[in-house]
Amino acid sequence: MEGGLSHPTSSSTWSNIIMAGIKIEEENVNFRNSFSRQIGIESTTSFWNEIWIGSSTLRVLFPRLFRLENQQESRICDRIRVSNSGLTYNWDWSRNPTGRTNSELSNLIRLLNGFAFSNSNSDSWCCTLATNGIFSVNRLTKLIDEQQASSNSDSETLRNNLAPKKLEVFVWRLLKRRLPARIELDKRGIDLHSVRCPLCDDGLETVEHTFIFCKHAMDLWERVFGWWNLGHFNNLSLNELLRGNTSNQSSSFGKKVWQSVEWVCAYYIWKIRNNLVFRDKKGNIPVALNEIQIKFFEWITHRSKGKKFDWHIWLSNPSFYLTN
Ligand SMILES: [Zn+2]
Repeated sequence: MEGGLSHPTSSSTWSNIIMAGIKIEEENVNFRNSFSRQIGIESTTSFWNEIWIGSSTLRVLFPRLFRLENQQESRICDRIRVSNSGLTYNWDWSRNPTGRTNSELSNLIRLLNGFAFSNSNSDSWCCTLATNGIFSVNRLTKLIDEQQASSNSDSETLRNNLAPKKLEVFVWRLLKRRLPARIELDKRGIDLHSVRCPLCDDGLETVEHTFIFCKHAMDLWERVFGWWNLGHFNNLSLNELLRGNTSNQSSSFGKKVWQSVEWVCAYYIWKIRNNLVFRDKKGNIPVALNEIQIKFFEWITHRSKGKKFDWHIWLSNPSFYLTN
């Protein structure tokens, strides 16, 4: 699968799969990305050179570390040991990572710690479109209907009457990959002199990089999750993140408040990026968080008629509003 579906006409099975795939993609479901590799605990997948965690290869996401790697062909099982007590790492650097390389290492470890290895020793493939993970053409064809229904309900979850309309539109464009991140423009044949992230220059500017993996985005999410006392921001997908689910039991009102905070954060990440790209203005994450806390407090006090918001609770224990 990895090299793409290369011989569509060589067997009827493959051409059926391709046809179903094309139909599925017409429904805005990314067929090719619907197969995920399940990484076993003795995985022989290349640690740096194959896509197995996140949206890109680790060599692209963490280029400084990759340069320090003594064995650039190493496999996952060479670098990670999985046991009941968690992951242990077996690095082989040409020198100890310092400075920006060391902060890459912390981001990498954070990413790895959130990763779910499968229980088996070796790798396998799983079709994420089917609930049992097993691929079949019939199942796939039936999914077209289901996906249509769920994409309707998706737009349902993208409604939040606490959020400004402008914000709803932004989130919708973000999830539909309609924001002009450099990679999206590049895919449409627009010639750019760089497709790297303008904020960190440490990876390609994909939507996932900008909003999830970029160290500036991670920094903001970590602070926001900390502010809301929701633990660590753990490698959530963009969809999961913007859905507003929390680890806490929350009232539907509380969920809406938290979801709109997440949306505002995503909006700020994009704003910081645009200020840099178009106005050459450097952003500052702690200042952004402060601004989010102040501006959104004003907004929410205004919007949630009848609900009393207290500035001190908002700053020190906003999780209070998840249940109250
Ligand atoms: Zn970045």
